[in-house]
Parts: sequence; C-alpha cells; structure tokens
Amino acid sequence: QVGVLAIVGRPNVGKSTLVNRILGRRVAVVEDTPGVTRDRVSYDAEWAGTNFKIVDTGGWEAGVEGIDSAVASQAEIAVGLSDAVVLVVDGQVGMTASDERMVAMLRASGKPIVLAVNKVDGADAEYMAAEFWKLGMGEPYPISAMHGRGIGELLDIAMDTL
Ligand code: GDP
Ligand code: MG
Repeated sequence: QVGVLAIVGRPNVGKSTLVNRILGRRVAVVEDTPGVTRDRVSYDAEWAGTNFKIVDTGGWEAGVEGIDSAVASQAEIAVGLSDAVVLVVDGQVGMTASDERMVAMLRASGKPIVLAVNKVDGADAEYMAAEFWKLGMGEPYPISAMHGRGIGELLDIAMDTL
C-alpha cells in the first residue's frame, strides 16, 4: 500500500506546476489564469526509491459565489483520502485570509502537513518564506516549482511523513 500525498492550496499558487516538477513530465494542467474547474487527479510518483501517489487538487469557478468554500471542499476530500499533505502558498503574493482558512481545515484533519512557499525564484528565499511562520504550520520551505528549486528538500521532508 503506497502513501498518498495531497497537494492543496489556493488557485494559482503553482500546485499543478509542482506536481509536474515532481513527476518530471507535464501531465497536470497548468493555468496562467485561475477559473477552470477540474477534479482531483492522482498520479503515480517516486522519490528516492519510495513509490507514492500524488494528488493534484482541482480548480474553482471564477465569479461563482462561495469560491473559498468550493476550494475548501475539493481540498477537504483530497485531504481526507491522503496520508500527508503539502500546503502550497504563494511567496510572491504573501499570506492571505484564504491560506489561513485552509490551515484551519488542515489542522482539523490531523494529517501531517508540509508547508511549501512557492514562486521563490530569486535569492530572497529566507525573507519571502519567513512570513509564513505565522500560519503556525511549522517551517515554511521555499521552493520554485517553475525552476526546480527546493523540490528535493521538500520531498525528503514529505516522504518522512508518509
Ligand atoms: P495551480 O492553480 O495552483 O495549479 O497553479 P498552476 O500550477 O496552474 O500555476 C499558476 C501560475 O503560476 C502559472 O502561470 C505558473 O506558470 C505560475 N507558477 C507556478 N510555479 C511558479 C514558480 O515557481 N515561480 C513563478 N514565478 N511562477 C510559477
Ligand atoms: Mg492546478
């Protein structure tokens, strides 16, 4: 029985880009603009000799009421079926109320959480990630899904929780 790792976070933070980076191929659909609804999609993955399943959580409908609740319910189902969770936040945008709502849901789930601060493309990693200590989810790991930065470290931590 392989472990299941769910990737959750607000729309457009780079979840699908991260999934593609981990898989080493472009399978998950990356959108430049949020607004497309998709289901949760599970892929077979491997890291450092460990096989696991990675679940990319879907999008949302722009302009529809209750966006946050739609995102949350998608994420909640994925989290419920997972063994561990990577919460992805956007280091360029900074912490948002939506991030905090997601943290509340994740806490209630009792699942192990690894916090990934994405879009940290440049040299200012520590500074950009530090703000997310305030989420109370432990150490924020700076990554750039686009450029491949920090992915190995993130996966090492995530594999320890599976
Ligand atoms: P999702 O909605 O969370 O799945 O986000 P996507 O993976 O579709 O990415 C949303 C946008 O963010 C796309 O335009 C990506 O190219 C961009 N993006 C993803 N990762 C990074 C990153 O590490 N750095 C930067 N600068 N942009 C990124
Ligand atoms: Mg996506």
